[in-house]
Amino acid sequence: MKEKLYRFMVGRNGPDQLTRALTGLSLAVLVFNLFLRSTALNVLWMAIMIWAYYRMFSRNLARRREENARYMQWEYKLVSGLRGWWDRLRQRRDYVFFRCPECRAMLRVPRGKGKIRVTCRKCGNAFERRT
Ligand SMILES: [Zn+2]
Repeated sequence: MKEKLYRFMVGRNGPDQLTRALTGLSLAVLVFNLFLRSTALNVLWMAIMIWAYYRMFSRNLARRREENARYMQWEYKLVSGLRGWWDRLRQRRDYVFFRCPECRAMLRVPRGKGKIRVTCRKCGNAFERRT
């Protein structure tokens, strides 16, 4: 049985990060729908499951790898964005955050210092700012 499954999966994509994320999402939709009992959510759950299985058994490895890479890039952006937001939230008592008007880099200065001269670490642009 194990041998058969192994031979079946040779040359197929298998569970990559995107497939795992889809499976997790479908599970979340399923649990959420236990309370809502909506037909639309049921269809959505099925569609996500079909998509996940399709990707797992697909033989078009190049295409699946490309999709997975795009997903991982998106996930990285999302996670680092959320982490940055969380860090700023935790430090907002002691620091002021704002973007450099020149290069849009996120800058952090101590709070309550009055009017100070800020030099951007990324582009070297200097400007005055109230904190
Ligand atoms: Zn800058």
